[in-house]
Amino acid sequence: MEIFGPIPSRRLGRSLGINNIPPKSCSYYCTYCQVGPTEQTEIERRHFYGADYLVELVKKRVAQLREQGETIDHLSFVPDGEPTLDADLGETIDKLRPLGIKIAIITNSSLIWREDVRETLKKADWVSLKVDSVDEKIWHRLNIPEGNLKLVTILEGMMTFAKEYTGTLVTETMLVKDRNVSKDSAIGIADFLCRLNPEKAYFLIPTRPPAISSIHPPSEEELNLFYQIVSQKVPHTEYLTGYEGNAFASTGNAAEDLLSITAVHPMRLEAVRELLAKNQANWPLVENLVKEGKIMETEYEGQKFYIRRFTKDK
Ligand code: SF4
Repeated sequence: MEIFGPIPSRRLGRSLGINNIPPKSCSYYCTYCQVGPTEQTEIERRHFYGADYLVELVKKRVAQLREQGETIDHLSFVPDGEPTLDADLGETIDKLRPLGIKIAIITNSSLIWREDVRETLKKADWVSLKVDSVDEKIWHRLNIPEGNLKLVTILEGMMTFAKEYTGTLVTETMLVKDRNVSKDSAIGIADFLCRLNPEKAYFLIPTRPPAISSIHPPSEEELNLFYQIVSQKVPHTEYLTGYEGNAFASTGNAAEDLLSITAVHPMRLEAVRELLAKNQANWPLVENLVKEGKIMETEYEGQKFYIRRFTKDK
């Protein structure tokens, strides 16, 4: 379906999805991709549905939603492939502007070394760049790029874009066990993100069946270690795990708040104690959540942390 939602999104609020790429035209064959396998990776920008066709569909859906009194926070290009492969993306954005709704694009960044792609992305209010690795070998193993792509030019393209872009820039990094969660990988990604300076760096873990069955999420210990290394250099770092609930507003229910917050980032022991005290709750509540397998205790440099348990379905 070319238009879907609106769906509630942690990053984008109520987001009306625009699928400007049919499944699955992509420059990558990410091993964790949930859309399915890429039969042939590609990097030539071309015409798919055309701007007028998509804009018409969006306009109709927006009118319908407005009639029902529903709000839309973003029109979001989150297709079943790489959105910047669409040669009509810029024109589509221009023609959506009169609707007065913010526009978001989630890109794998693979074509950002091209000036025309950077110019197109600049038209959006919110852009998410994929930064899964800064190491050529890991990148090849994890993202399986089209043969002519070079990681170094992509990273340079991202830096150029970040300097010029005036909208909201965020990044997303998929963390995969035995691929990009080692200490060295974390340090490399942290150094790059520190220079790129996104408003927020999001870290995801594979939660749905990936393209390749040997792909697994990292353990909670690995996630904690990764977070501790990256958050020292990158101030706004969050996990995006699908379990998040509402980590921003306190519900007054200590268990719910603990689950929400620990899904977004590991919590120090003292922070957990403070949250309990604020809600007149006691330590056995934490012990129960650990016993039920909902959160787990882990350590970093002699300090205890609590993190939402991702490795088992609740
Ligand atoms: S870039 Fe996105 S659509 Fe393309 S293979 Fe990777 S995860 Fe799938």
